Amino acid sequence: MIAAKGYAALKVHDQLAPWPFERRAVGAHDVQIEILYCGVCHSDLAQINDEWFPGIFPMVPGHEIVGRVVAVGDQVKGFKPGDLAGVGTLAGSCGKCSRCREGQEQYCAEGVVPTYNGLDKFRDNLPTYGGYSDTIVADESFAVHISEKLSLAAVAPLLCAGITTYSPLKHWKVGKGHKLAVLGLGGLGHMAVKFGLALGAEVTVLSTSPKKESDAKELGAHHFVVTTDPAQVAAVSDSFDFILDTVAAPHDFDLYLSLLKVDGVHICVGVPPEGIHVKAFSLLAGRKAIAGSATGGIKETQEMLDFCAAHNIVADIELIDIKDIHTAYERMLKGDVRYRFVIDMATL
Ligand code: NAP
Ligand code: ZN
Ligand code: ZN
Repeated sequence: MIAAKGYAALKVHDQLAPWPFERRAVGAHDVQIEILYCGVCHSDLAQINDEWFPGIFPMVPGHEIVGRVVAVGDQVKGFKPGDLAGVGTLAGSCGKCSRCREGQEQYCAEGVVPTYNGLDKFRDNLPTYGGYSDTIVADESFAVHISEKLSLAAVAPLLCAGITTYSPLKHWKVGKGHKLAVLGLGGLGHMAVKFGLALGAEVTVLSTSPKKESDAKELGAHHFVVTTDPAQVAAVSDSFDFILDTVAAPHDFDLYLSLLKVDGVHICVGVPPEGIHVKAFSLLAGRKAIAGSATGGIKETQEMLDFCAAHNIVADIELIDIKDIHTAYERMLKGDVRYRFVIDMATL
C-alpha cells in the first residue's frame, strides 16, 4: 500500500480536514501520479452534502486531477515516469459491455466506478478517494496525457468541466450556423462558452449575475442576457438551437424551453437536486427535446485535451490553498466563481 495525504469529510456535512489514508500498491496496469493541482467542482460540494445519494465517508473529493507520473506497473505501455497525466471523473468500468468497447465508459452497463465516492467494484470493492490529495494510483486506461504546452493548473478543470461540456456539444454537432445559449456562467458554463466559440457557434450567456457581463464578453460570448430581467429574456424568445444548462439550483425549465426554436434541444449537464420539472406543452409546442449528458469517455477526454492544446484552450482559474476550500465552496454557492477554483496541492 502507498501512504497518502488528503483532505476529507469524515461524515456527511463535515468540514474537510487533513486525513492520512492509503492507496493501493501500483499494479501491473497502473500509473501512480503525484497530484500537483486539483480543480474544485460543484459536484464535490453536492457529494459531501449527500445531495444526490448517501455518500461513502470518509470522502476525499476531487475529480479534476493533474500531475506527474512517478511510477508505472510493468505492463503499462502508454506512460512513463515524468509524464504529465490527468484523471477525471472515472476510475473504472467493466471494460466488456458494448458502451465500454465503444469508448463510452461513462455509460457502462455495469455502472462506472467514480474517482471518489464509489466502490472499486471491478477490483477490490474498496472505496475510491479523489484528488484533494498528494498522490493517486489509476489504471492506465483511465489516465490521460496532458500537453506540456498549456498551464498545468488551468488544465485541471478540463478533466471534468471541460469534458462535461465538450462531449454534448460534439454529440449534438453544435457548430457554425447554430445559436447556442449557455445557462449559468460558472465552472462548466465558462468552458461551454469557450468550446461553443471554438466550434463556430454564435454564443449567448444566460446568467443570473449582471456583473458577469464584461467577463462573458471577454470570453468572447456574442451576447449576454440577465435571466432575472423579464424584458431581456423575452427578447430572446424562440431564438436558440441549443441551450446547454449548467445550473445546480432550481430553475424554470418551461421558461428556458420557450427560448428554443422549433426542434431546439435543452441539454442538461447541471444537477438540480430536486430534479427537472417541465410542462408537457413546453415540449410539444415546437417539438422540443430535453437531453442529458454525463461527463465523457476516456477516448473523448483525450480528444478534448488534444483539441485544447491545438486551440490553446484552458480554464480561467483562481488558484487556492487547500485550507481555503470552504471559503471557495461558500463563494461557489453564491455563483461567485471566476471561473474555477483550483487547489495548489503544494499547500497540502
Ligand atoms: P458552478 O461553478 O457553481 O456554476 C453554476 C452556475 O450556475 C453559477 O455560477 C451561476 O451562474 C448559475 N446559477 C447558480 N444558481 C442559479 C440559479 N438559482 N438560477 C440560475 N442559475 C444559477 O458549478 P459547476 O461546477 O459549473 O457545476 C454546475 C452543475 O453541473 C452542478 O450541478 C454540478 O454537479 C453539475 N455537473 C455535472 C456533470 C455531468 O457529468 N453532467 C459534471 C460536472 C458537474 P450565473 O451567475 O451566471 O447565473
Ligand atoms: Zn465535476
Ligand atoms: Zn461496461
